[in-house]
Amino acid sequence: MSLLDSRIYVAGHRGMVGGALVRSIRERGGRDILTATHAELDLCRQGQVESWFSEHQPDTVILAAAKVGGIHANNTYPAEFIYDNLMMSANVIHAAYTSGVKRLLFLGSSCIYPRLAPQPMPEDSLLTGPLETTNEAYALAKIAGLKLCQHYRHQYGVMFHSAMPTNLYGPGDNYHPENSHVIPGLLRRFHDAKLAGLEAVTVWGTGTPLREFLHVDDLAEACLHLLELETPPDWVNVGSGQECSIGELAQTVKEVVGFEGALKFDPTQPDGTPRKLLDSHLIQSLGWKPRVSLKEGLQAAYADFQSSLPRSV
Ligand code: GDP
Repeated sequence: MSLLDSRIYVAGHRGMVGGALVRSIRERGGRDILTATHAELDLCRQGQVESWFSEHQPDTVILAAAKVGGIHANNTYPAEFIYDNLMMSANVIHAAYTSGVKRLLFLGSSCIYPRLAPQPMPEDSLLTGPLETTNEAYALAKIAGLKLCQHYRHQYGVMFHSAMPTNLYGPGDNYHPENSHVIPGLLRRFHDAKLAGLEAVTVWGTGTPLREFLHVDDLAEACLHLLELETPPDWVNVGSGQECSIGELAQTVKEVVGFEGALKFDPTQPDGTPRKLLDSHLIQSLGWKPRVSLKEGLQAAYADFQSSLPRSV
């Protein structure tokens, strides 16, 4: 059965990644998409997950549900990040196996690799050194998810595999002032400063860390591409190769928003890992490449942010 003829459960469809996946599946003509809200199905509850799977019988599962956040949230709520993400992964992957799911794609993160991994980071740098401490809890849960898929595939012969995206952004992002990732956090901060006529905006850390960014629509295409491969790798990096310093990113966001004041850095805030660039040769050799440039993607993200604001009357 082809991917688009199968009954696909997108776990986490209200999130940025799950939302992009549902859009991409629909655009390609997929019609049988299963989703469940948090109120309908709490993925941290094993009993609920098992009953849901035996009732709905998906053929394909994309596990895009996760508790996510930026450097501040990861550093402040590590217990929630490790518990929720471990439980969701274990419950969904095991229920998928016991209910006869044919194919499952698990979504991880580039923070699974060691803090001082060689750059760009190849897939085989996994578990070769200590993790970055600001997101260790989240990273450990994501490593466990990836390993669950690898071991279930090996022991039970099921086609469960993983994608490890770089830092993502795009429509449906979380624009919380503190708990978000850097792009939505800065879009909000510059936008609010423009409206308030402030003279300067503060950017966390020193501005020197290097990050790679990928538009979520490019990730969704990569996921569907991987799901169509007959023998995908156990896990594969998905990055854009578009890397910039946080200082350069802040300057670009400032221009996109049209804020005319100054940029200030706050080195009392954590920088996190110094550099996080994925080696994406493997997925490119499998026939996927990114399409959205950072500038275009940021312009679209700013339009999305503005449309997410409550309308003033
Ligand atoms: P990370 O890639 O896991 O470190 O996740 P983030 O997206 O949260 O942060 C990336 C980098 O941007 C870090 O060096 C932060 O210190 C820096 N940064 C600068 N300003 C902000 C902000 O307003 N929000 C966030 N989340 N990070 C910021």
